[in-house]
Amino acid sequence: MPEQDILPTTEPACKKKGAPIITVEHASKTFPNGVAALQDVNVTVCKSEVVVIIGPSGSGKSTLLRCLNGLEEIDSGHITIDDIRLNGNKKNRDIIRQEVGMVFQSFNLFPHLTVLDNVNLAQKLVRKRDDKEATDTSMDLLNKVGLGDRAASYPSQLSGGQQQRVAIARALAMHPKVMLFDEATSALDPEMIGEVLEVMRALAKDGMTMVLVTHEMGFAREVGDRIIFMEHGQVIESATAEAFFENPGEERTRAFLSQIL
Ligand code: ADP
Ligand code: MG
Repeated sequence: MPEQDILPTTEPACKKKGAPIITVEHASKTFPNGVAALQDVNVTVCKSEVVVIIGPSGSGKSTLLRCLNGLEEIDSGHITIDDIRLNGNKKNRDIIRQEVGMVFQSFNLFPHLTVLDNVNLAQKLVRKRDDKEATDTSMDLLNKVGLGDRAASYPSQLSGGQQQRVAIARALAMHPKVMLFDEATSALDPEMIGEVLEVMRALAKDGMTMVLVTHEMGFAREVGDRIIFMEHGQVIESATAEAFFENPGEERTRAFLSQIL
C-alpha cells in the first residue's frame, strides 16, 4: 500500500462502540468580529461513545457544541448527526435540536414554573405530548436524577446541584440521541459537583452518546472513552482517555496538562 494511504488519521475508528452518529468534517466558523472560533475541525463520535473536549478558555469548545445542536452555524464544512445534515436547512435544524440535548453551565430553568412544568414544557410544545404522557415521562426522569420529591418546587427553592439535575432531566425528556454538556458543573459549589457528575456517569453507563466539555479531569479520565484537546479553534489531539493522560502525543497537549494537573 502506498504510504499516503496509511497516514494515521487523528480520529480513531469506532472500535468498542457503535457506528458513527456525529461527523464533523472540515468545519470552520469565524464570528463577525473576525475571531476564527473553529478552524478545519474534524471529529467523529460513535454511538454510545463519551467524548470529552478539553482546552484553554477561548479555544472553541462551546462554539463546537453549539454548532452540534444548531445554535450556531458553521461557515464551511459539514456536520452530520444521525444521518441528518446540518446545512442551513431549517427543517433539519429543528430535527437536530430535538435529537440533541444540551446542558449549559447556567441551568436556564424558567423561574416562574415548577420543576415538573419545566420538564414538561418542551415535551408538550415540541413533542406535542398530552399532560399525562409528559408528566409520566417527567416524573420518571425526576426520580432518575433523585428529585421526584421536588416536582412541585420552584427553581429558586433548589440548590444549584438540584437545579442542574432538573436541567438534565428536562433535556432527557425529549429522548435525545445525543447529549451535550458544556461545563455543566462549573457554576456549582464544590459540594454539589459530585451529585451532577453522578447523574452524568449513570447516563454514560446507560449507553447515552455524550460530548462534554469539563474541567473535571478525574471525571474526564474515568468516564471519557476519548479526549479531544482543542486550542485556537483547532483539534490538536484526539486519543483514548488512557493514552491522552498517560502519554499525550502533542507538545501543546503536554503543556496544557502540566498547567492543570
Ligand atoms: P471556549 O468554550 O473554548 O472557551 P468559545 O467557543 O466560547 O471558547 O469561544 C471561542 C472564541 O470565539 C473566543 O475567542 C470567543 O471570544 C469567540 N466567540 C465566541 N462566541 C462569540 C460570538 N457570539 N461572537 C464573537 N466572538 C465569539
Ligand atoms: Mg466555553
